[in-house]
Amino acid sequence: MPSIDHNCPDPQLTDILRRELKRQRVKLEMIASENFVSEAVLRVGASVFTNKYAEGYPDNRYYGGCEHADELESLCQARIRKIFNCEHVNVQPHCGSSANMAAFFAVLNPGDPILGMSLAHGGHLTHGAPVNFSGRLYKTEFYGVREDNELIDYDELLAKAESHRPKLIIAGGSAYPRTIDFERFREIADRVKAYLMVDMAHFAGLVAAGLFPSPVPVADIVTTTTHKTLRGPRGGLILCRKSLAKAIDDQIFPGIQGGPLMHIVAAKAAALGEALEPEFIDYQRQIVKNAQRLATHLADSGFRLVSGGTDTHLILVDLRPKNLTGLAAERALDKAGVTANKNAVPFDRQNYAVTSGLRFGTAALTTRGFKERDMDQVAEFIVEALRRPDEDGYLTKIRQRVEAFTQAFPLYPNLDF
Ligand SMILES: *Cc1c(COP(=O)(O)O)cnc(C)c1O
Repeated sequence: MPSIDHNCPDPQLTDILRRELKRQRVKLEMIASENFVSEAVLRVGASVFTNKYAEGYPDNRYYGGCEHADELESLCQARIRKIFNCEHVNVQPHCGSSANMAAFFAVLNPGDPILGMSLAHGGHLTHGAPVNFSGRLYKTEFYGVREDNELIDYDELLAKAESHRPKLIIAGGSAYPRTIDFERFREIADRVKAYLMVDMAHFAGLVAAGLFPSPVPVADIVTTTTHKTLRGPRGGLILCRKSLAKAIDDQIFPGIQGGPLMHIVAAKAAALGEALEPEFIDYQRQIVKNAQRLATHLADSGFRLVSGGTDTHLILVDLRPKNLTGLAAERALDKAGVTANKNAVPFDRQNYAVTSGLRFGTAALTTRGFKERDMDQVAEFIVEALRRPDEDGYLTKIRQRVEAFTQAFPLYPNLDF
């Protein structure tokens, strides 16, 4: 038996990890749902808490040895209550989808009617899509955006609420670049006596910084991921009023999860600690400035943007006027060193695997230190690549320039993998 070095993963694994680190360093990361956590969050997320079982909640666990886990989870909760000004938070959801599942289970029974934003118009799978548990368990109806301005159609929302009589209305989505009128959602929910849930997975960081209206005062339940604009580890959170606290907690554990990932709870606490620093507001402001600069540059270069621009970290480009599909554009950009994803645009005629749109986000590049003038360069790379999407040699040359450009923005300079 060869001796094993327990301080270092085996060479096969090390090689994969190193190549992934290199990929993150030399490409332009523009997937709107991604970000780069700090080295502190990375380290805490790989801590000895990965060894600990802590089923239950602070001071009420099913395992011994939880005294430090209790302190950790309480600290994480306190930071979240402070940032979002909420009455109660559950920090244990493994991801955004399980946060949503537990939230639904807390207020719905199978077969109940729900009303969410159409996936095709910027909603999320877990808001009732037929292929998702939410679409299989509940009677779903969808609202969307208006065709003329591509903003949420609140009249349609009201009409659908009155005809469908949902027990739960869901606001929020994954590809909607504009501010959302949560008060309006509340009025409509009240009119049909529905619960209102806001899924702020994408814009939670903006809410934390006060740059997007907070759904916390108006929604019954707010769910989120922690790894998008909030810049924490992969995971979820559920915020709610005291009156729903027990129902929510019971549905996370023992409802749908076993032991919480305490190393991830630790990393959430680390990220939320960063979010409490004044620099976090500057960071979030820069995200929006960068997105708006990118939007302006792309629009000036002849690209059509859904809703004409953005209020957030996110841009949706409609490629139909360019006779390009989202799939072809995503592939061309990847060859040019720009990582983004194809995305349906409202009223898209292409199927989900092809689409007519591209979604860009600026949270990750902003973490790397990109400012407005850097976004001009990024926009140029995108414009050039999409001008000749079928010419591999030409795209490779762009990728080499992208690689050189990224050198000025070191990512995890002290890290080996
Ligand atoms: C990303 C996202 C989720 C799901 O998050 P996962 O952690 O991938 O399960 C849920 N809702 C919305 C709106 C999202 O954007």
